[in-house]
Amino acid sequence: MEYLAPKSTCLLCKSEFTRKGIGRHLTACLKKHSPRTKETSARKYCFLSVHDVYNNDYFLFLLVAQDATLEDLDDYLRKIWLECCGHLSAFSYGKWLEELSMTTRIRQVCADGRTLTYIYDFGSTTELQIKIFREVTSAMSIKDDIILLARNAEPVIPCDNCGKHPAKHICTECQWDDAGWLCEKCAATHECGEEMFLPVVNSPRTGVCAYTGEGTKIIKIK
Ligand SMILES: [Zn+2]
Ligand SMILES: [Zn+2]
Ligand SMILES: [Zn+2]
Ligand SMILES: [Zn+2]
Repeated sequence: MEYLAPKSTCLLCKSEFTRKGIGRHLTACLKKHSPRTKETSARKYCFLSVHDVYNNDYFLFLLVAQDATLEDLDDYLRKIWLECCGHLSAFSYGKWLEELSMTTRIRQVCADGRTLTYIYDFGSTTELQIKIFREVTSAMSIKDDIILLARNAEPVIPCDNCGKHPAKHICTECQWDDAGWLCEKCAATHECGEEMFLPVVNSPRTGVCAYTGEGTKIIKIK
């Protein structure tokens, strides 16, 4: 079998798109779904995407309330993708040139329109890039700070040992030698033992540190 990145679903209209098509689609779909009301309770949101710097098959498209802070976004990313042992994290503009305070409002980030770098864990680092679509803002009458619009469907990664079945476990001993991604069958006879395994989950942090991916099951819009 081959590595496969399946199509991902737009959670606004439930249609499926490739990684390349979904950003453009969402821009149009959002315009259709944003209520054009003058409701005073409607909140303004910033449209942004998040992807893993080293594998952009892992992505999220989000609406983040303009009055939310980077700390709120940090919390969300930890929940859905990253949290393993409460590591430190940070946002910056560009490649570590200007670190941003966690109290920075999304409104500011959205107005600046610059690409952000986010790091979770300065040891076994997961590095994300956050792209702001400044031209698209949205208003919704709901109380959530962050709305998930789309996330990547889980990539199908072949077993390093047999190459026939999708990997379900990662041996943390062997993964650096390109031999650690294992299907159920090969995992059962793998010599390093189960205590070395981490699950394969839909996150850029799969196989890193102690990550088991509880949050990766979040898929719905609240
Ligand atoms: Zn859509
Ligand atoms: Zn950890
Ligand atoms: Zn196998
Ligand atoms: Zn092993």
